Amino acid sequence: MAGMLYLVPTPIGNLGDISERCRRTLEEADFIAAEDTRVSLKLLNHLGIKKSLVSYYEHNKAFKGQAIVDRILAGETCALVSDAGSPAISDPGEDLVKQCAAAGITVCAIPGPCAVITALSISGQATGRFCFEGFLSTSKKSRQAHLDSLVKEQRTMIFYEAPHKLVNTLQDLAAAFGEDRPISLCRELTKLHEEVVRTTIGEAIERYTENAPKGEFVLVVAGAPEEVKEAATAEDAAARVAQLMEEGLSRKDAIKRTAIELDLPKNVVYDAALK
Ligand code: SAM
Repeated sequence: MAGMLYLVPTPIGNLGDISERCRRTLEEADFIAAEDTRVSLKLLNHLGIKKSLVSYYEHNKAFKGQAIVDRILAGETCALVSDAGSPAISDPGEDLVKQCAAAGITVCAIPGPCAVITALSISGQATGRFCFEGFLSTSKKSRQAHLDSLVKEQRTMIFYEAPHKLVNTLQDLAAAFGEDRPISLCRELTKLHEEVVRTTIGEAIERYTENAPKGEFVLVVAGAPEEVKEAATAEDAAARVAQLMEEGLSRKDAIKRTAIELDLPKNVVYDAALK
């Protein structure tokens, strides 16, 4: 009889957020797969649980995943935890869930702490429709492609970000969505210094350029306002390209951005810009 995989969320700051069900699952599992065994050991010590731990993280998941699947198929029950929050959400676990599902193993996700949902609910932004965008890539090209794909997104957008990259990311968000776009910066959620700054992207840049950001952040950005506009003309395209070039974009990037914003084919914008 095969065992099971449990996804066990752990506190994102406040140890009181571990649920009774999570505690019991950790106690009853045959072994725990952890992103960083040192971090999880601290939590287990706090809970008074002694359990065999194996590491499962980004750089060993390719071969560790199969070993975990084999143990579960042999009848053991595994509890997967990440350093904080819900496993598989911008954390190791996504691949293990796929591998277990493919092997016919039952996967059970226990609800619990998750930074994206905590931030969205406290943000004051529209919560009816939202999209989670995770971390922006550090590669300039894929980061730009990601932001380009969001220029017309009308749902509330949620990003994870580390403090040392925050200002740079806010500048990229301003280039994509404009400085006036509302944003809620949710910092140190569930911790002593929890703070939610509801402002605009431009003002957030000023604020965190003057005072270096500290702690963990979730950025909740309002979606684009609904467009009620007529089809753009070649003159509109030429004017927008000129404006973006004045703001510092290269001709190529200005054409690309204008094509996305005005929903026109790139060659039409290119011809309009040349004229
Ligand atoms: N799987 C986790 C979850 O869903 O909660 C997220 C893990 S991800 C590697 C870590 C990111 O989550 C941080 O860089 C930050 O953006 C966000 N985060 C985690 N804990 C947070 C907290 N207490 N306050 C604000 N953001 C937090």
